[in-house]
Amino acid sequence: MAKHLCPTSSSRLTIDLGAIRDNYRLIAARIAPAMCSAVVKADAYGLGAARVAPMLRDAGCGIFFVAQLGEAIALREALGAGSEILILNGVDPGGERLCADRGLIPVLNSLSQVERWRTLARERGAALPAALQVDSGMSRLGLDARSVATLADDAAFPREVSLRLLMTHLACADAPGNSANEAQLARFALARARFPGVPASIANSGGSFLPEEFHCDVARPGIALYGVAPSALAEGLRPVATLAARVIQIREIEAGTGVGYGLDYIASERRRLATVGIGYADGWPRHLSNVGAVWHQGTRLPITGRVSMDSLTVDISALPDEALAEGDFVELLGPSQTLDDVAGEAGTIAYEILTQLGRRHERRYVDGAQICA
Ligand SMILES: *Cc1c(COP(=O)(O)O)cnc(C)c1O
Repeated sequence: MAKHLCPTSSSRLTIDLGAIRDNYRLIAARIAPAMCSAVVKADAYGLGAARVAPMLRDAGCGIFFVAQLGEAIALREALGAGSEILILNGVDPGGERLCADRGLIPVLNSLSQVERWRTLARERGAALPAALQVDSGMSRLGLDARSVATLADDAAFPREVSLRLLMTHLACADAPGNSANEAQLARFALARARFPGVPASIANSGGSFLPEEFHCDVARPGIALYGVAPSALAEGLRPVATLAARVIQIREIEAGTGVGYGLDYIASERRRLATVGIGYADGWPRHLSNVGAVWHQGTRLPITGRVSMDSLTVDISALPDEALAEGDFVELLGPSQTLDDVAGEAGTIAYEILTQLGRRHERRYVDGAQICA
């Protein structure tokens, strides 16, 4: 890999906005005529909502989901007026005014969230927009069937809340054969029947690749936009994030020499090691100690010993002596190693690796081959 141009970070995260755009278009085409929104919570899964969301808006996306009010306020700044911004967790008590004043739409998940929103509407003498989430079987967020009936039977409700979306969330969308998906769809249909004419949404990334009846009016993909296939049904998504880190030091150790904290790795024979400038403070999981690897031009370089806060050590004995020098880059995410590979070795999911990547990397946004300002 080419020598580093930015000497202030030991690692570089490259984010391909063009790949995110292509992934958005692929999902949008798959679910059409349903509308495709974008889930950009947790700072667009760690990739930078202020960069990702305006690009998606320019690509035709009109609806954005975040998890919290603070994220929604920041996103409104980035997008300006015109885009719909919905808050998946709803609004915590006391946040209702701020939410309404910024033109943000809460997802109301419980009768108490509904009640607080209605109170503000009565104060203001005008209906306030909201989405309503129904719990169709995941037992995480949303109204149960009885609460749905209570609201549907309440003649004052439509005067106080202008329902923009009725939504639910699938527990097993990543498992297309799981009968829980059909069961949730059936329970959601009962709720939809109580709110005729209100647009409906059930599909996350996994749901967008399920059969058409799961697409409803609006799909809410997140992880697939960022290049991770939610299930075996998802084909053609382009990877988005590339991560590289630079070699800080190279050494040779003799048989019997220990490496890293706890001397958890002992060389069985003479080894060449490289210490790489990335660690668990950068979101590289400590669970990869003695398990994971980094790569150099297709050669696997196993992690030796424990991952430290700011560095890790890899065995480069498989490379010719001159192949790597101090300052050179090794690959952590890229053609040789995907987010799913790393997540599998670390005992977690790609979502967690992506959202933990941290703030210390040099961040470079590209669109295809072009570097964005
Ligand atoms: C996070 C989230 C999504 C997006 O999920 P992905 O699996 O990343 O596509 C959609 N809907 C809800 C309610 C969510 O919490």
